[in-house]
Amino acid sequence: MTTDPNRVGAPEAPPAAPEPQAPGAVYQAGLEAGELRYQHCGGCAAAVFPPRVLCPDCGSTDLAWRTSAGAGTVYSTTVVRGRDGAHNVALIDLDEGFRMMSRVEGGDPAAAAIGDRVGFMTVRQDGAAVAVFGKPVEGDVR
Ligand SMILES: [Zn+2]
Repeated sequence: MTTDPNRVGAPEAPPAAPEPQAPGAVYQAGLEAGELRYQHCGGCAAAVFPPRVLCPDCGSTDLAWRTSAGAGTVYSTTVVRGRDGAHNVALIDLDEGFRMMSRVEGGDPAAAAIGDRVGFMTVRQDGAAVAVFGKPVEGDVR
Protein backbone atom coordinates (compact mmCIF):
# COMPACT_ATOMS: atom_id res chain seq x y z
CA MET A 1 0.00 0.00 0.00
CA THR A 2 1.33 3.35 -0.88
CA THR A 3 0.08 6.53 0.62
CA ASP A 4 1.52 9.86 -0.30
CA PRO A 5 2.10 11.48 3.09
CA ASN A 6 2.47 14.89 1.54
CA ARG A 7 -1.13 14.83 0.39
CA VAL A 8 -2.70 13.77 3.64
CA GLY A 9 -4.93 16.43 5.01
CA ALA A 10 -3.76 19.41 3.05
CA PRO A 11 -7.15 20.98 2.41
CA GLU A 12 -5.69 24.40 1.81
CA ALA A 13 -3.35 23.20 -0.93
CA PRO A 14 -3.90 25.18 -4.11
CA PRO A 15 -5.34 22.86 -6.77
CA ALA A 16 -2.88 24.11 -9.34
CA ALA A 17 0.17 23.22 -7.27
CA PRO A 18 2.38 21.06 -9.47
CA GLU A 19 4.07 19.30 -6.54
CA PRO A 20 2.66 17.85 -3.35
CA GLN A 21 3.39 20.20 -0.51
CA ALA A 22 6.20 19.27 1.80
CA PRO A 23 5.23 19.05 5.48
CA GLY A 24 7.14 22.22 6.25
CA ALA A 25 5.24 24.08 3.54
CA VAL A 26 1.87 22.94 4.87
CA TYR A 27 2.91 24.09 8.33
CA GLN A 28 4.05 27.47 7.03
CA ALA A 29 0.84 27.90 5.03
CA GLY A 30 -1.00 27.33 8.29
CA LEU A 31 0.96 30.06 10.01
CA GLU A 32 0.22 32.43 7.15
CA ALA A 33 -3.47 31.68 7.75
CA GLY A 34 -3.08 32.20 11.48
CA GLU A 35 -3.26 28.49 12.28
CA LEU A 36 -0.90 26.31 14.25
CA ARG A 37 -0.88 22.99 12.42
CA TYR A 38 0.54 19.72 13.63
CA GLN A 39 0.21 16.12 12.52
CA HIS A 40 -1.71 13.28 14.08
CA CYS A 41 -0.48 9.74 13.51
CA GLY A 42 -3.12 7.29 12.35
CA GLY A 43 -0.84 4.42 13.38
CA CYS A 44 -0.24 5.20 17.05
CA ALA A 45 -2.30 8.36 17.71
CA ALA A 46 0.79 10.41 18.58
CA ALA A 47 0.83 14.15 18.04
CA VAL A 48 3.73 14.75 15.66
CA PHE A 49 5.73 17.97 15.62
CA PRO A 50 7.71 19.39 13.91
CA PRO A 51 6.08 18.28 10.64
CA ARG A 52 7.60 15.26 8.98
CA VAL A 53 6.75 12.42 6.60
CA LEU A 54 7.17 9.52 9.05
CA CYS A 55 5.86 9.18 12.57
CA PRO A 56 8.92 9.24 14.87
CA ASP A 57 7.18 6.89 17.28
CA CYS A 58 5.96 4.11 15.01
CA GLY A 59 7.26 4.89 11.52
CA SER A 60 3.81 5.20 9.99
CA THR A 61 3.30 7.49 7.03
CA ASP A 62 -0.36 7.89 7.98
CA LEU A 63 -0.04 11.44 9.25
CA ALA A 64 -3.04 13.74 9.12
CA TRP A 65 -2.94 17.48 9.62
CA ARG A 66 -4.78 19.00 12.52
CA THR A 67 -5.03 22.54 13.80
CA SER A 68 -4.08 23.19 17.38
CA ALA A 69 -6.40 25.19 19.59
CA GLY A 70 -3.25 27.11 20.44
CA ALA A 71 -3.29 26.76 24.21
CA GLY A 72 -0.20 25.54 25.94
CA THR A 73 2.03 25.57 28.99
CA VAL A 74 5.61 26.83 29.24
CA TYR A 75 7.89 23.81 29.69
CA SER A 76 11.13 25.74 29.83
CA THR A 77 12.23 29.27 29.18
CA THR A 78 15.43 31.22 28.89
CA VAL A 79 16.44 34.72 27.91
CA VAL A 80 18.81 35.22 24.98
CA ARG A 81 20.62 38.54 24.92
CA GLY A 82 21.92 39.77 21.59
CA ARG A 83 22.83 42.96 19.80
CA ASP A 84 19.18 43.66 19.10
CA GLY A 85 18.25 43.29 22.72
CA ALA A 86 16.95 40.44 24.78
CA HIS A 87 14.33 37.96 23.72
CA ASN A 88 12.88 34.86 25.19
CA VAL A 89 13.25 31.31 23.92
CA ALA A 90 10.75 28.87 25.32
CA LEU A 91 9.62 25.29 24.88
CA ILE A 92 5.85 25.16 24.88
CA ASP A 93 3.80 22.04 25.57
CA LEU A 94 0.61 22.35 23.53
CA ASP A 95 -2.52 20.84 24.99
CA GLU A 96 -2.77 18.44 22.02
CA GLY A 97 0.41 16.72 23.22
CA PHE A 98 3.30 18.13 21.25
CA ARG A 99 6.15 20.40 22.23
CA MET A 100 7.56 23.23 20.17
CA MET A 101 10.31 25.80 20.47
CA SER A 102 9.01 29.34 20.28
CA ARG A 103 9.04 32.46 22.37
CA VAL A 104 6.75 34.24 24.75
CA GLU A 105 6.08 37.79 23.64
CA GLY A 106 5.00 40.79 25.55
CA GLY A 107 6.78 42.62 28.31
CA ASP A 108 9.92 41.52 30.04
CA PRO A 109 11.42 38.48 28.27
CA ALA A 110 12.48 37.18 31.68
CA ALA A 111 8.92 37.31 32.98
CA ALA A 112 7.79 34.07 31.33
CA ALA A 113 7.89 31.26 33.84
CA ILE A 114 7.72 27.49 33.71
CA GLY A 115 4.12 26.45 34.05
CA ASP A 116 2.69 29.67 32.62
CA ARG A 117 -0.37 29.20 30.43
CA VAL A 118 0.18 30.80 27.05
CA GLY A 119 -1.71 31.21 23.80
CA PHE A 120 -0.53 30.86 20.21
CA MET A 121 -0.40 33.82 17.86
CA THR A 122 1.63 34.80 14.84
CA VAL A 123 3.91 37.73 14.18
CA ARG A 124 5.58 38.71 10.93
CA GLN A 125 9.31 38.37 10.92
CA ASP A 126 11.50 38.82 7.86
CA GLY A 127 8.39 38.68 5.69
CA ALA A 128 7.05 35.38 7.02
CA ALA A 129 4.59 34.48 9.72
CA VAL A 130 6.20 32.89 12.76
CA ALA A 131 4.57 31.22 15.74
CA VAL A 132 4.91 32.94 19.08
CA PHE A 133 2.95 32.78 22.30
CA GLY A 134 1.26 35.43 24.35
CA LYS A 135 1.18 35.65 28.07
CA PRO A 136 -1.63 33.89 29.82
CA VAL A 137 -5.17 35.03 29.86
CA GLU A 138 -6.26 33.77 33.24
CA GLY A 139 -9.21 31.44 33.03
CA ASP A 140 -9.51 31.87 29.29
CA VAL A 141 -7.34 28.99 28.12
CA ARG A 142 -8.04 25.43 29.03
ZN1 LIG B 1 2.84 6.77 15.02
